[in-house]
Amino acid sequence: MKPFLGSSRFTKEATPEAIRECTCAHLRFSLARMPESATPRDWWLATALMTRDFLIERLLATQETHRKAGVRRLYYLSLEYFLGRLLRQNLLNLGLWERTGEALRKLGVDLEEICEEEGEMGLGNGGLGRLAACFLDSLATLRLPAIGYGIHYEFGLFQQDFVRGYQIERPDDWHRLGSPWEILHPEFAQTVHLYGRLEHEEGGCRWSDCRDVLGLPFDIPIAGFGATTVNILRLWSAKSTREFDLEAFNRGGYFEAVGEKSFCESITKVLYPNDKTESGKELRLVQQYFFVACSLRDILRRFEAEHRDWNLLPEKVVIHLNDTHPAIAIVELLRILIDERKMDWERAWDWTSRIFAYTNHTLLPEALETWSVPLFHRVLPRHLELLYEINRRLLEEVPVTDDSSHQKRRAISLIEENHIKGVRMAHLAVVGSFSVNGVSALHSELLRTRLFPEFAALFPGRFRNVTNGITPRVWLLGANPLLSSLLTEVVGEEWITDLSRLRELRKFSADASFLDRYAAIKRANKVRLSECLRDWCGLTADPDALFDVQIKRIHEYKRQHLNLLHILWLYRRLLENPNADFPPRLFLFGGKAAPGYDLAKCIIKAINSVAARINRDPRALGKLQVGFIPNYGVTRASRIIPAADLSEQISTAGKEASGTGNMKLALNGAVTIGTLDGANVEIREEVGDENIFLFGLTAEQVAERVRKGYNPWEIYESDPELRAILDWLGSGEFTPGEPASVLAPLRHSLLEGGDPFLVLADFASYLAAQRRAEQTYRDRSRWMAMALTNTATVGKFSSDRSIREYAEGIWRLAPVPLPG
Ligand SMILES: *Cc1c(COP(=O)(O)O)cnc(C)c1O
Repeated sequence: MKPFLGSSRFTKEATPEAIRECTCAHLRFSLARMPESATPRDWWLATALMTRDFLIERLLATQETHRKAGVRRLYYLSLEYFLGRLLRQNLLNLGLWERTGEALRKLGVDLEEICEEEGEMGLGNGGLGRLAACFLDSLATLRLPAIGYGIHYEFGLFQQDFVRGYQIERPDDWHRLGSPWEILHPEFAQTVHLYGRLEHEEGGCRWSDCRDVLGLPFDIPIAGFGATTVNILRLWSAKSTREFDLEAFNRGGYFEAVGEKSFCESITKVLYPNDKTESGKELRLVQQYFFVACSLRDILRRFEAEHRDWNLLPEKVVIHLNDTHPAIAIVELLRILIDERKMDWERAWDWTSRIFAYTNHTLLPEALETWSVPLFHRVLPRHLELLYEINRRLLEEVPVTDDSSHQKRRAISLIEENHIKGVRMAHLAVVGSFSVNGVSALHSELLRTRLFPEFAALFPGRFRNVTNGITPRVWLLGANPLLSSLLTEVVGEEWITDLSRLRELRKFSADASFLDRYAAIKRANKVRLSECLRDWCGLTADPDALFDVQIKRIHEYKRQHLNLLHILWLYRRLLENPNADFPPRLFLFGGKAAPGYDLAKCIIKAINSVAARINRDPRALGKLQVGFIPNYGVTRASRIIPAADLSEQISTAGKEASGTGNMKLALNGAVTIGTLDGANVEIREEVGDENIFLFGLTAEQVAERVRKGYNPWEIYESDPELRAILDWLGSGEFTPGEPASVLAPLRHSLLEGGDPFLVLADFASYLAAQRRAEQTYRDRSRWMAMALTNTATVGKFSSDRSIREYAEGIWRLAPVPLPG
């Protein structure tokens, strides 16, 4: 038996026999197992290791080519990568899925089944982390030289359970048994410094008495579709530089010695589970700096290995900041250039601000990172000093002439003058980058006009838009095999790397027999999801019901409670009139709440409580069902999305920067019910007014309502039905055996709390849109034509398009052809 790939290391030549041999060799030599006694997990691992061999061959070829050509390379810095499971995706991108299925069948093993053995890499919270994962896929598919950097968290996003309807968090111990996808490179370990004090001396500054932390890199291969380019994602794990602090140990300080070790290892212990809220915690700042410092050292090491002329640095290196989380990199590079490379300020700053580009992901004030100056000073004393100098020079660009210039200076300053001063990371990112972009047309516009008007005036050429996208390899090819086959049959395989090809489908929107095939696929996906729902939430779903889906992080601005109010409205209608005439409906929710976000957790409890009541009410039988799918992540998303009919994208206009769930659902033929927010605006432009259910205030109208003094009580007083629903929710009816006050905070936030996200203001309009959706759903061919039109016309939202725009308009990055 040949132990490894041998002569068939190029995927084109890999026969099912070679794949089988390689898998069996891994089962035997890597796992010490015999086929007869191998468990499904053993088969999964052996198959993953076989896949990894192919990845590594291409990875080495890619690195060799890039190195020899001395390419300009993108370094993508992100604190989150929400990768999900990798076996299916890697096999699909390598073009080995079918052949591996065949090889395993001969061994009596079902590939689909063993894929279920894989845990997910949940090193992200939601949209931002998933975007980074989609971008890595597109970068490799487009053959762009790029390396992702991030953190090798020991624990990813918590696992979510429900107990009596309450969210319970369990640690995500994804790495306990190791991972076949990662390659440890101890030879590229880096040491970084934190804390300590400064000594200013002739010709520079010394940073001494620091705490040292070792960064160990784990590489995850990232295969592009077609498998020519395999890039890497390099994730840093923090370790102590010495297992024991020997000095402390010899002084008898055993606990001190071990303490330093556990401090270091705590740095990359766990992903912060807050989506769009910043906690300002010291460990989070340490995490950010640790990964940024390791990455920059690694970038400079590679640059020096590939180029002799140091002056080429700004030509060969472009660094992208995925939100402000890695923005400290700007000051770190400046520090290295000035303190370690002895460059003067002007030149060091010129280089730095030619190297960085920044994407802003949110306008929500609670999400804009600021670090208290005393904290910053303690952790990164030298960086604070440099930051003040950046600020001094920035403020000089606004000469003091009158009162308004003082105002302007306050507005742009890197330092927020609160009772405790704060460092504004978004301002640092804007000032230190040559490009600043938002993630949808609307968001980029609001970025310029509302968040950063002074910067937009000061740096007019710096601001732009790149609308987000999703990778069709994961969200269609991987998630929806039935639809993928149909698409390939009618438009050819090209759609996989050119999603605009799906426009050809539009000619079938009045073709009854084609619509039947499309509808049959949707139905099959709904049956498949229904089987899962039994396991996930004990629900026996009716596959003929209208599947109405809201899957995303639980957040007030995303307004899961608006959806809930409508469900209660429908339920009331049913109780008042048992013959109420509407198509059977299944409402599905999925999403995690940040563990410290009480109102989000209350929304979960409310949905679960209402679901429990409705699902066992005989009067709702066959008409109304509600399910909250626990532990929503990439894996469950891939199962839910192909089965969705209606896609809930109902955020308060102006609050959702882009959304990407909206794109995944539309591509899979779910019709959007949504506000004119984020990328919904552009989805509407693509699919047309007739193929989307819009409702609600626009971003401008929201701003105006708030300006005039929005009062939810007026709506409560004037709409008796809405009033009845809110009172019902707060009455304790849905939480029997528990205090009546359990759901009261939800009602309270919408009334006494001032309804900050204008749920009540949009309620009537939302209801009307729901009625339109319901009526349309009854006309099956009309609905299927709408769904098909959505699939056909959302090609713009491929992450390949986003990445091309970044590569051409921002990064100045060209594809690199590879041999093989
Ligand atoms: C796409 C995705 C998101 C983002 O969803 P939005 O609706 O855009 O907020 C969040 N979580 C997971 C697992 C995803 O796949």
